[in-house]
Amino acid sequence: DRAAGVSVAESEGYLKVDQIGERASELKNLSDLVPPNLASELVPEALAWASTHGLVMGDKSIENSGKVPGVGLVHAPFCLFPTPFPAEAFEHAIDLAPLFNKLVDEVSKDGNFLQETLERTRKVDPFTNRLLGIHSRVSEEGIKQEVQLGMHRSDYMLDKATDTLFQVELNTISSSFAGLGSQVSNLHGYMIRHVERSTNMDAKQVPENTAADAFAEALALAWQEYKNQSAVVLMVVEPGERNMYDQYWLAIKLYESYGIRTIRKTLSEIYAQAHLSKDGALYIQEELVAVVYYRTGYSPTDYPTDFEWEARLLVEQSSAIKCPSISYHLAGTKKIQQELARPGVLERFLQGKESIEKVRSCFAGLWGLEGEGSTEIINKAIENPDAFVLKPQREGGGNNLYGHDIRDRLLELREKDGGIGLAAYILMQRLFPVPHTSYLVRGGVWSFEETASELGIFGAYLRNAETEILNKAGGYLLRTKVSKSNESGVAAGYGVLDSVYLL
Ligand code: ADP
Ligand code: MG
Ligand code: MG
Repeated sequence: DRAAGVSVAESEGYLKVDQIGERASELKNLSDLVPPNLASELVPEALAWASTHGLVMGDKSIENSGKVPGVGLVHAPFCLFPTPFPAEAFEHAIDLAPLFNKLVDEVSKDGNFLQETLERTRKVDPFTNRLLGIHSRVSEEGIKQEVQLGMHRSDYMLDKATDTLFQVELNTISSSFAGLGSQVSNLHGYMIRHVERSTNMDAKQVPENTAADAFAEALALAWQEYKNQSAVVLMVVEPGERNMYDQYWLAIKLYESYGIRTIRKTLSEIYAQAHLSKDGALYIQEELVAVVYYRTGYSPTDYPTDFEWEARLLVEQSSAIKCPSISYHLAGTKKIQQELARPGVLERFLQGKESIEKVRSCFAGLWGLEGEGSTEIINKAIENPDAFVLKPQREGGGNNLYGHDIRDRLLELREKDGGIGLAAYILMQRLFPVPHTSYLVRGGVWSFEETASELGIFGAYLRNAETEILNKAGGYLLRTKVSKSNESGVAAGYGVLDSVYLL
């Protein structure tokens, strides 16, 4: 029975959307407008739409689904209807995008800041150490490419207690779901058409999602800056990538709209096939590479041997435009996020009181754990771990600690080697997002759940040595998870793709 897990009372009267309250914390749910029997009828419509519009991924249970396009597809997990979100907070997040783009760029230019901030972390975290090693090496040798391309995603939660939009993190490498995210918003427009008469829902409340176009445009403009018509974009991918269609959305747009070819290689293929010309141009066999776009390389498991590290270094030494460059990658680490939140630090990188205040207003509590001054916050977290999230320098979901695990880990780290291991982590104020209820659809099966959402705003940035070429927000992604789950990663299997219904 598909309705398993449905807990809403069948007899409940369903609201009209204009009865939904105005304030974020009072916002009800679009699922209140759609009774389970109607939802159940609409799920196949949504599944058919997803399948016919490329809202798909590789199916875990089918061999080769992460290797051969077109084999073993399943729809991406999604919310049947969008989730209400206050328009004001959404627009605020959009306004922040160019500021964060600029901030990443300015931070990336300050090599000493990156090295110094990560100095204690590198001693206890071999992964950060290797990234910094590449950064020092190419800084010493001299950077061969001044063009910087940022394709970021800044993630936020709307905190229930304060009704405030807080940044969770800023991703500067491998920000995913620009492709599929755009399609989820289109799906929601389609679903609303099915119920607009019976519910007063209005598809216009789902903002147009330009994420896929914006990211394809960013890649195209970067390619143009390289100024060689025969060069390609190199997408660096995992050996088995089930989220490949999200990536193909960008590659295919890049070809259809701009005539630019993309090739896909793993880090180990790059190691085997890449070389640099005398002047530093990057070749994969015979192909000249204009832009290197990483959709891997953010996690220690992406570098199983030294060969992958060799490949990363070679790319970094080349004159290809990298997204991200090693300095952009480092600027997006959690340790840097925490440092930027300390008093006076933003002022070093951003101009204008208003901009600085705007950026700072979305910073939640963030604390470093190394050094004398951190005893108090460590004690607080040990006493009350549910008020915090403990984060290592990792990306891709599933790495953070919560609750009891925070206490255990902090006690363990404090005891060992005089506490030096604490520098691998940061503490963050735990956010509690405004709760909703939603119909979630995964693997063709739907369930009705209490949910929490995380808003991601894509940012696209491009500059050359002299001028800024592109600096804008580029669409969005809402990820919605079951409330009781700690993490929201979609690829990691925690959340579903969603979009916003602005109120
Ligand atoms: P990653 O780079 O692995 O995505 P994040 O900082 O985004 O790291 O954390 C992963 C997930 O953990 C987030 O998507 C969110 O669901 C949850 N999370 C992270 N920080 C917080 C926080 N401060 N409060 C509540 N949940 C959080
Ligand atoms: Mg991240
Ligand atoms: Mg994240």
